[in-house]
Amino acid sequence: PQLANQIAAGEVVERPASVVKELIENSLDAGASQIDIDIEKGGSKLIRIRDNGSGIAEQELVLALSRHATSKISDLNDLEQITSLGFRGEALASISSVSRLTLTSKPPGQVAAWQAQAEGRDMAVTVKPAAHPEGTSIEVVDLFFNTPARRKFLRTDKTEFTHIDELIKRLALSRFDVSWQLNHNGQSVRRLPRATTEQARMKRVAMLCGRAFAEQAAYIENSYGALKLSGWLLSPQACQSQAGCQYSYVNGRMMRDKLLNHAIRQAYGERINAEQQPGFVLYLQIPATEVDVNVHPAKHEVRFHQARLVHDFVVSALSDALNQLTG
Ligand code: ADP
Ligand code: MG
Repeated sequence: PQLANQIAAGEVVERPASVVKELIENSLDAGASQIDIDIEKGGSKLIRIRDNGSGIAEQELVLALSRHATSKISDLNDLEQITSLGFRGEALASISSVSRLTLTSKPPGQVAAWQAQAEGRDMAVTVKPAAHPEGTSIEVVDLFFNTPARRKFLRTDKTEFTHIDELIKRLALSRFDVSWQLNHNGQSVRRLPRATTEQARMKRVAMLCGRAFAEQAAYIENSYGALKLSGWLLSPQACQSQAGCQYSYVNGRMMRDKLLNHAIRQAYGERINAEQQPGFVLYLQIPATEVDVNVHPAKHEVRFHQARLVHDFVVSALSDALNQLTG
């Protein structure tokens, strides 16, 4: 099982930031409202994620570490409408096959916390009692220690940490209801309290995208049938040459989606020149049945069933907004 898991890890676990992404998605799926991330040496020494989510019961710990064990979908029909961030059930098994992973959890209502660890070629899981508040901590130590070829591909600690920080930024811009803390080598890098009011959300946008973006971006909201687009858009005059905030989300998932990017470029069109970069933080809501998220193991891409319709809606919603901004 270790080899099979390591092969799967090749698809999901590219670098420390991909581990952080999978673990945080699990915390979000568990309904966490507070997520604390501790990183040492760019994540190659330590990645620790602690959440206050629903936890994993003692008798489920072994299962959580085994491949293709997911508590999130129970039959194939669920695959047609995925609402959780995870669903493949391979992240924990994959990560634990290429690191020393410890899982500690206490669901609300369970008397004590328990800790699980999988080791060796047979990935045998040992479970023992531990001390932990309600929620889950996952500690990933010495990532890629047993896959030297992958370890060699790690960049400097600084570069790897930059990828992690960028990821936290993207996540924090989609989950204002979650409080985030990010530490690197014992130093606090980001502290983002829960933002439940408009004012608090703008404050977070300013912290993540810069004051200039927060001051110069307009809030937009538009819908067509069940499609809804909202977020912040920089007026053409305010677009600078260096790419600032360029973030888009589909049903809360961060995306680097070609179709969306194309639609955004097209909407800005000739309003900006070749040196200017659009600035946006945009959220597209679309019924789960209208989009396929099971396209890529790391889930960076989606497939829209009615791609043309989605594209044209985004172009027209943004063009309207930009027209108003330019007066
Ligand atoms: P997936 O997210 O695709 O279901 P994972 O391998 O990422 O698969 O996780 C396996 C299972 O472990 C999840 O289905 C979930 O039941 C449990 N789990 C993992 N992380 C957490 C967490 N932070 N809080 C609660 N449950 C978790
Ligand atoms: Mg997962």
